[in-house]
Amino acid sequence: MREWNRQAACVANTELDWFADRVPDEIVDVCNRCPVMGTCLMDALDGNPERELGIRAATTEQDRRDIRAGRREPWQIWDRQKQLHLI
Ligand code: SF4
Repeated sequence: MREWNRQAACVANTELDWFADRVPDEIVDVCNRCPVMGTCLMDALDGNPERELGIRAATTEQDRRDIRAGRREPWQIWDRQKQLHLI
């Protein structure tokens, strides 16, 4: 386990569906409270296939493909989640 993983909020929320096609509201909440969200996203984007699976930093695998391809920025994904969450 890498050092930053010890601070990961998901460790205490393993009952949630971390492999869903869209990010459930409960996971948005967990990731937004996580102290290592930025590190988590960078780690998920670094090209290691083992770390690309599932929801990471409130992004899906498709979200991260879009980020890598320059189609979207992470803040756009997170802003959209906040808008949906508020409705
Ligand atoms: S930001 Fe990453 S490390 Fe933190 S809870 Fe979400 S998936 Fe886990």
